Amino acid sequence: MSEHSSDATLPTVAQALQHALAQGLARIDAQVLLLHVMGRATHERAWLLTHDDQVLTAQQAQHYTNCCTQRLDAVPVAYLTGCKEFFGLPLRVDARVLDPRPDTETLVEWALELLPADGRERVLDLGTGSGAIALALQSQRPQAQVLAVDASSDALAVAQANAQALQLPVQFLASNWLEQVTGTFALIVSNPPYIREDDAHMPALRHEPRQALTSGADGLDDIRAIARQARAHLLPGGWLLLEHGWDQAQDVQAILHAAGFASVCSRQDLAGQWRCSGGQWPACA
Ligand code: GLN
Repeated sequence: MSEHSSDATLPTVAQALQHALAQGLARIDAQVLLLHVMGRATHERAWLLTHDDQVLTAQQAQHYTNCCTQRLDAVPVAYLTGCKEFFGLPLRVDARVLDPRPDTETLVEWALELLPADGRERVLDLGTGSGAIALALQSQRPQAQVLAVDASSDALAVAQANAQALQLPVQFLASNWLEQVTGTFALIVSNPPYIREDDAHMPALRHEPRQALTSGADGLDDIRAIARQARAHLLPGGWLLLEHGWDQAQDVQAILHAAGFASVCSRQDLAGQWRCSGGQWPACA
């Protein structure tokens, strides 16, 4: 019997979960956070079932209470566990960067369709944050020359640490969009901020960096700037792919057309939302 198992104030795994659910946590969040405080991998949810009568230590119980309180205050689970899987890559994340969303894998899949398997193309990721997109592309296209930029030195530190941990040779540059970027690319991708300043969802996202989320009154200021600046940095026939909000595909297509892009089209994410739009820089402009 462990020193705590007779202590009636310390919960079992089953009791800790029950308590978290009663407080209003989503079941998946309650499970992932409990695995985290118990030092287990967050995909080991079956472990919780086979250990439902294991008693938490005082330290684990306190840590779990703290995590649950923060989660109920809308802190992303990834900030509490310190990690998030994106496109199969384990990324370290914290409040310096946007919590990578599965929606963004749509942009990665589209980009991969445009990049030959062993091509040495130059690829640019604008506003890389945790490095999610750039690292996913580099992991799938080892010969590509991937450059990732961000205006936030905090974000670049997170992305660089991820590149190092994953041993992926992505290059990094501090730049406000393309201001410091030189040369041309076969592909430019970005998940820029695109939420309207007054969007009703902003309070729920209050723990994430605001500069990674909102972009002017209509949410499109940064997308307009990127579309304008990207033209001088695309090879003839090169593509610009942008993530955007569920109701912005038409507007982003109009921005791309107005900037002179051809073959403009949009893609749906797994939830069926029109999540990305892109255009090709004309081969004979
Ligand atoms: N997809 C995120 C959200 O709506 C926002 C990400 C972004 O602005 N790039 O919660």
